[in-house]
Amino acid sequence: MGQFTHRKAQEMTAKYCRFLCYAALLIVGGNSPVACAASRAVDSPKSQITVLYDAFGQTPAMQQDWGYAALIEYGGKRILFDTGNNPDILAQNAKAKGIDLSKLDFVVMSHRHGDHMGGLGYVLSVNPKVPIYAPKEGFGVYGADLPSTFYRKDPSLAPEQRYYNGTPPDVLRFGSAWPGANFRLVDKNTDITPEIHLVTLVSDKPGTLELRELSLVINTPEGLVVVVGCSHPGIDKIVESATAINPRIHLIAGGFHLVVAPDSDIEKIVTVLHDQYKVEYVAPGHCTGEPAFSALKRAFGDHYVYAGLGTTLTITPRPAKPY
Ligand SMILES: [Zn+2]
Ligand SMILES: [Zn+2]
Repeated sequence: MGQFTHRKAQEMTAKYCRFLCYAALLIVGGNSPVACAASRAVDSPKSQITVLYDAFGQTPAMQQDWGYAALIEYGGKRILFDTGNNPDILAQNAKAKGIDLSKLDFVVMSHRHGDHMGGLGYVLSVNPKVPIYAPKEGFGVYGADLPSTFYRKDPSLAPEQRYYNGTPPDVLRFGSAWPGANFRLVDKNTDITPEIHLVTLVSDKPGTLELRELSLVINTPEGLVVVVGCSHPGIDKIVESATAINPRIHLIAGGFHLVVAPDSDIEKIVTVLHDQYKVEYVAPGHCTGEPAFSALKRAFGDHYVYAGLGTTLTITPRPAKPY
């Protein structure tokens, strides 16, 4: 049985665990007898991805809309990856899944497009001080800073004609669209915990030239789980960068940005993911595109994981440390 099951299957698993731990672990493909203390199997932190925002899905209580957001629970951390297109719809969708966005360890904003940051206002209304990892860009929407040496000086000018009367602060800080938000700006690959990483790349594609994008990479016992927002720098380049952490790619979830790509480009990317990087599972959503859904389905077969709005994907956790 595959590693990814829907919520219902998980609930069943938890129920079985209370009575028959070994059987339950067989059902979910649990890989470590260390995790087989019944109480720990039930109480251990969740290890899953829940899609909170997308334009397709089969959960009636949630509203479909263009954009992406997902709650990632791993290693005891609750991470909101992107915030969708609209604050009210994000609020509705989170409520429908019983997810409290006032309880988060941190947020990751993948990039500065409105269909990923439009719901941030709602998150801040319930969680104003949550740390938010966001791409650092020159004069970017999430704020920025530069050393005051960035501009050329002319000491022959009178002080009143000079910036800051000729004595600027060492660092100039530039505002964000959300004053008071707790942004942590990222411009290089960053380890948040030993297992949770951010990979950052800059797009060189027409239309998104110079756009910086963050992807979330979790190093699980089965390889990397890579969560992508829009993959503007190229899903192949994001995967290549992630392989520096671990060459084994277990799952890619999120937007692959092939929504307007011609079939020849789609086939090229699918081949690179499947044959070159030997990606084990894909759970495409958002801007992957309908023809790319089909192409990925053909290539990955039963390793193509449906991940519409409301879907919960399980991730294999690190085994608990033995007593
Ligand atoms: Zn985008
Ligand atoms: Zn997008």
